[in-house]
Amino acid sequence: TSRSTSASTARSAALMEHARTVTPGGVNSPVRAFRAVGGTPRFIASAQGPWLTDVDGNRYVDLICSWGPMILGHRHPDVLAAVGAAAERGFSFGTPSENEVALATEIVGRVEPLEQVRLVSSGTEATMSALRLARGATGRSKVVKFAGCYHGHVDALLASAGSGLATFALPGSAGVPASSAGETIVLPYNDVAALEAAFAEHGEEIACLITEASPGNMGVVPPAPGFTQALRRITREHGALLISDEVMTGFRCSASGWYGVEGPYDEGAPDLFTFGKVMGGGFPAAAFGGRAELMGLLSPDGPVYQAGTLSGNPVATAAGLATLRGCTPQVYDHLDRVAHTIADAAHDALSAAGVPHTVQWAGSMFSVFFREGEVRAYDDAKDQDTEAFSRFFQAMLDQGVHLPPSAFEAWFVSASHDDEAVEAVLAALPIAARAASGS
Ligand code: PMP
Repeated sequence: TSRSTSASTARSAALMEHARTVTPGGVNSPVRAFRAVGGTPRFIASAQGPWLTDVDGNRYVDLICSWGPMILGHRHPDVLAAVGAAAERGFSFGTPSENEVALATEIVGRVEPLEQVRLVSSGTEATMSALRLARGATGRSKVVKFAGCYHGHVDALLASAGSGLATFALPGSAGVPASSAGETIVLPYNDVAALEAAFAEHGEEIACLITEASPGNMGVVPPAPGFTQALRRITREHGALLISDEVMTGFRCSASGWYGVEGPYDEGAPDLFTFGKVMGGGFPAAAFGGRAELMGLLSPDGPVYQAGTLSGNPVATAAGLATLRGCTPQVYDHLDRVAHTIADAAHDALSAAGVPHTVQWAGSMFSVFFREGEVRAYDDAKDQDTEAFSRFFQAMLDQGVHLPPSAFEAWFVSASHDDEAVEAVLAALPIAARAASGS
């Protein structure tokens, strides 16, 4: 089922050349430029189920799934119908509309500690707003984050972020004022002692600690047993809020996200949660939420301002609602099975080719590190053979499998990854593993 596509990327290459003249780097999000892995980014023209088709007519098994949102696969009939019906009624009203209430109700119903959510348009907005709310609620300004955790391109949260910043080996970003970066304390993940020390020193100034519920932006690095509880205990002891960023894990790791996998916690729930990706079904929709008393500090009831022209967009909320409703127990079983089949085969192929690697899991979310030994924190994740990954990535692409173009990302699967798609991945893996080994 695998076939070479490398002979025909002329249209993608031509588009990229033109794109570079009108858009910085030719892309609207840096990782798409293939800088880490080299080669021509494929311009995707259409997608169906687990398949992507590029502008040259090549077909790929999609293991990006839009970096998470396409959990049901592309153009799922129920989502397509919901989007079509919503669009028929109008694209955006700038008034309250029924779908917003339905989506909020669906989200609040799934994650037990949530009483209220506010809808926004991107994960970045969700974390930015949660941060402002935490600062407003506590009257404090400092923020604690973990190295390798990505929470979007919020000024205060770019320090030692994973994702694209890991790919480009950037410590942060130009254009972030020192006054803003100076409010951020970056700590190593899974290190309770470092956390205790930071809170002992700065506890009274810390508004909140934000963490990925289970990090996926330095590759998949789950919290060590008890770590999340320690975050809850220590933040509470110092009067700081705990923000659990479930933008990636939300409604993917389980029907109620990572909270459904690891929670409820003896030490209590996080104060605020952020969501995105799956809850928008491929459209711009995201959310942040928590207890009603805390959320009540937001405008118009409270003093913390937050707003958005397209927040709760009727088409996006229709897509999100249909997607969440489509995430049945069978869907999660299928994701689990497909993820394990692909991860096991990747492990076997890389072992057979003698390529050092480690596979790590968070529910059915997984990633393959091109290094030996457990990855517990960002320093471990950075210690991988990214050259080997690049060779592996290119060989997979040549055979019609589109992985995320970075060694620091989860591999995403969907409910639509059927036998044909999985077989195509399994056929490609041994060849790519040999390419990775350099032989
Ligand atoms: N938080 C996490 C955990 C994420 O994975 C991401 C995106 N990868 C974001 C926040 C930012 O979301 P967005 O790209 O929609 O702004």
